[in-house]
Amino acid sequence: MAAKISLTRTLEVGKCMIISHSRPYIDEEDVRAVAEVLASGRIAQGEKVNEFEKALARYVGKKYGVAVSSGTTALHLALLSLGVGSGDEVMMPSYVCSSPYFATLHTGAQPKIADIRLENYNISASTIHPQISSRTKAVIVPHMFGAPAKLAPILELGIPVVEDCAQSLGAEYESDRVGSLGKVSVFSFYATKMITTGEGGMILTDDEKCYARLLEFRDYDRKALAPAKYNYKMTDLQASLGISQLSKLPMFIERRRRISSIYSAAFLELGVQLPKASSESMCVFFRYVIMLHDVNLERIRKKSRANGIFCERPVFKPLHRSFAAVECPNSDKAHDHALSIPLYPSLSEEEIDYVVTRIVKILGSSK
Ligand SMILES: *Cc1c(COP(=O)(O)O)cnc(C)c1O
Repeated sequence: MAAKISLTRTLEVGKCMIISHSRPYIDEEDVRAVAEVLASGRIAQGEKVNEFEKALARYVGKKYGVAVSSGTTALHLALLSLGVGSGDEVMMPSYVCSSPYFATLHTGAQPKIADIRLENYNISASTIHPQISSRTKAVIVPHMFGAPAKLAPILELGIPVVEDCAQSLGAEYESDRVGSLGKVSVFSFYATKMITTGEGGMILTDDEKCYARLLEFRDYDRKALAPAKYNYKMTDLQASLGISQLSKLPMFIERRRRISSIYSAAFLELGVQLPKASSESMCVFFRYVIMLHDVNLERIRKKSRANGIFCERPVFKPLHRSFAAVECPNSDKAHDHALSIPLYPSLSEEEIDYVVTRIVKILGSSK
């Protein structure tokens, strides 16, 4: 009764391949791992969750791991573990999804917005510094698109750092894995992240007090009524997939980096801004993001789509455009000019060739 699964789904419509913007990599080992737990009847939080927590903590280089239901609930608990609450402020970049914003609101604290640097789309000590006040209780530092933020100067600011590694599991900053340097670090295992559990997340920390708070808030059963608890648990079904996926992470990273160098070599002469290599870090290319300056981004996006290639703006809408009275010119620039080209480990060689050929043609003829 082995399930028949198709590992890569190449669709073809006429002469056109369909390349979605993202797609998970699931193999038969993953299917077997989940099926075993399902057949065991022990499907809620249990031994597999413990094992996954230990494996991720060991891989990243932190003492404790607490698995939860998503990256957003991981951020929420991470902030609670630092004692963040109403009256406090939490710093975050404008150029990010709305998850850090909502996680902060759920604690009762106020989000504070900092601009990014265009070299790696991340916040930095110099963009954070002007926004700091006496109420700033934490700074959420996402390593965007798989590229590590410049962490050392941010840590020197003295504000507790929550590393948001949802897009950067396995990346290295000065030969440390991202997630190993902040006071707490969070991960997401949504379907299209570096590894997946369908939905899922984790918080890592070395701090015993934070760890105790994370465990206190994660579930509610047989505990005191105050302070209020949550049910943010991960299941063994998900954790078994996470363990299986983590064993493939080195291959995922290798494939992502290889595809990125194929793209960069092919796009070199097109006059677009390619991802910048950094001497102090190792990028895992969660996204391959280029900046298009002299062309209409929407036109390129539509033309790619007509060719079956689903390129996207990598961030839906910079946060400062919706609520903050702070100017973020670099986030605006990134939003107006950045385009993410499909890159993920389940792309076949044929699909990679197809993307290269069509994108070169589309960008080459758009001048
Ligand atoms: C995906 C993501 C999140 C949220 O993770 P979910 O599992 O979708 O809740 C948070 N921060 C960043 C940078 C992300 O990419």
